[in-house]
Amino acid sequence: MTADPSEVPEPEMRKLLTSHGLRVTQQRLSVVRVLASDRCHFSAETLLERVRKAHQTTCRASIYNSLRSLVEAGLIREVAAKLGGTLYELKRDDHAHLICDHCGEVSDIELDFTVNYESLPTTIEVRSVEAIAHGSCKKCLTLVPKKAQKAKKTKNRQKNQQKILVL
Ligand SMILES: [Zn+2]
Ligand SMILES: [Zn+2]
Repeated sequence: MTADPSEVPEPEMRKLLTSHGLRVTQQRLSVVRVLASDRCHFSAETLLERVRKAHQTTCRASIYNSLRSLVEAGLIREVAAKLGGTLYELKRDDHAHLICDHCGEVSDIELDFTVNYESLPTTIEVRSVEAIAHGSCKKCLTLVPKKAQKAKKTKNRQKNQQKILVL
């Protein structure tokens, strides 16, 4: 079982960086600290805001640089959310993501799937395969049916008009 990342003490975070072949810098440490504080998915902008609470002079470029090196080292991973842009999280036990196609909210889900790596094209060296489930979050579900109904009505109307034309 993996320890709760929010309880990862600072020396452990330093070790986490060095074990991934990364030099310990203030920025990288800050980014990892924020990501470890919450089992959540953060945008680069939210990370910047959080890091600035402790280190006000942190510039945007250094956060983006840290994110890039942390992703390349395999310590964190990118989650491509349709609406919210790229989100980041600490790499933990494999899990899949559920993305709300309406508001872009991302949540973690358990999803059992097996990948036959041998059947994948050899034109690219595959590092990881991710599963994303798309759907609607509860908040959006209360709004979506109205929109969907409206779209359906318009479609039906178009269908009827087509019928009339054929006749
Ligand atoms: Zn939603
Ligand atoms: Zn996740």
